[in-house]
Formats: sequence, C-alpha cells, structure tokens
Amino acid sequence: MGLYGLLRVILIAMAIWWLYKLARRWLTGNPKPQGRVNPRPQPSDGEIEVMVQDPFCGTYLPQSEALRSRIAGRYVHFCSEQCRQGYLDALVDKQKQNKRR
Ligand SMILES: [Zn+2]
Repeated sequence: MGLYGLLRVILIAMAIWWLYKLARRWLTGNPKPQGRVNPRPQPSDGEIEVMVQDPFCGTYLPQSEALRSRIAGRYVHFCSEQCRQGYLDALVDKQKQNKRR
C-alpha cells in the first residue's frame, strides 16, 4: 500500500463516519444539541411584572392586579378597594388635623 492506498483508507473511514452520523440522526430523529438546554430561559426585563407596594397595608403586588389611583398628582397602587378607601380616609384625617392646628 502506497500513499494512495492510505488516502483511500482515510476517505473510506471518513465516509463510514459520515454515514454513521447520518444513520444516527435518522434513528434519533432531530439531532439533540450538546449540553443541557434550559427549558425555561430567563425572562428579559420587559417580561418581568412590575411590583408595586400598597402604601396602606404595605403589600407588594403585580401592577396589573393593583388598583391605581391618582392622589396628590402621583399614582398610588392598592391591593383592594378597602385599602384605597382606608388610605384616602387617612389622608383626609391628616388634612383635617393640619387644619385644626
Ligand atoms: Zn392593601
């Protein structure tokens, strides 16, 4: 066997290896990517729900579930109507106390 014989052996080996890979792909269906794949990728900043605090009871809740009220020119979030009413009542009480003094 000369140089050509060696080249032929290499080519045959490569062909067998390629056929083996191809056959394995057919048998296993889709080729699986190497390594562990995280099924749940980390959500980007845009997908994270904004949390707001209820100033009356101190509870944190998602902004989409909160009751929003504009009080004294800024938005305030509440977990329930009761908290909003309680907060407004407390504000009114404070204003009354300030007027008395
Ligand atoms: Zn609350």
